Amino acid sequence: TTPRKFFVGGNWKMNGSTKSIQTLVDTLNKAHLPVEQVDVVVAPPAPYLALVRSTLDSKLGVSAQNVYAAKSGAFTGETSPLFLKDLDIHWTLTGHSERRQYFRESSEYVAEKTKFALDQGLSVIACIGESLIERETGATNAVLASQLEPLAAALTAADWARVVLAYEPVWAIGTGKVATPAQAQDAHKYIRSWLAKHVSPAVAQATRIIYGGSVTAGNCGELARMGDIDGFLVGGASLKPEFTQIVKARL
Ligand code: PEP
Repeated sequence: TTPRKFFVGGNWKMNGSTKSIQTLVDTLNKAHLPVEQVDVVVAPPAPYLALVRSTLDSKLGVSAQNVYAAKSGAFTGETSPLFLKDLDIHWTLTGHSERRQYFRESSEYVAEKTKFALDQGLSVIACIGESLIERETGATNAVLASQLEPLAAALTAADWARVVLAYEPVWAIGTGKVATPAQAQDAHKYIRSWLAKHVSPAVAQATRIIYGGSVTAGNCGELARMGDIDGFLVGGASLKPEFTQIVKARL
């Protein structure tokens, strides 16, 4: 079995300006990130994608935060996967909890968008995760399964080679309340076993499952030591210099 390459994504969410983004890109370019050992992908707001792709070191990936499931047409306000490819951007997030929560994206819709983006040649960071009430009522694994099912139904085995799964418990996102290494490892292990059973053992072994939710330079080290944690999706801390330390969590 081949080891899974560590993956660290930075989700900038709806933050930044031309000036602050130029500064952030400059910092990343000068950080000499260990790209041989870690895949690094940052997701700026859509209006800044072209700026970031044209100024960021080409060894670092760029991702959209969201994408639409059509090539072009009368879909005001949406981003086509073809725009991303035209901009030499090869990644998108799908199913971030903020999109599920504030824009009512269902797991079926997330799967449809994921499949469409993959069919257009993009790679996808697909996000899943339970809410606080779901965790407290013991529904975590059932929720994860219900979010994975439409994805597994839509994707082929070959598709999975271009998917990174982000486990992001909603109660940990932007709250400063990080999952314990044991909580995260348990969820990642469950996700991997679910993939083994419902997709294939090969896909389960090869798919990167990354953790997101209040990851910082201070807590990334012990999370990175867990066997089924293959990297991070970082929100708040991806706007700060400490992102560099998170990229190096496994080194
Ligand atoms: C995220 O937006 O995916 C995220 C994990 O945010 P934060 O790191 O700020 O909790």
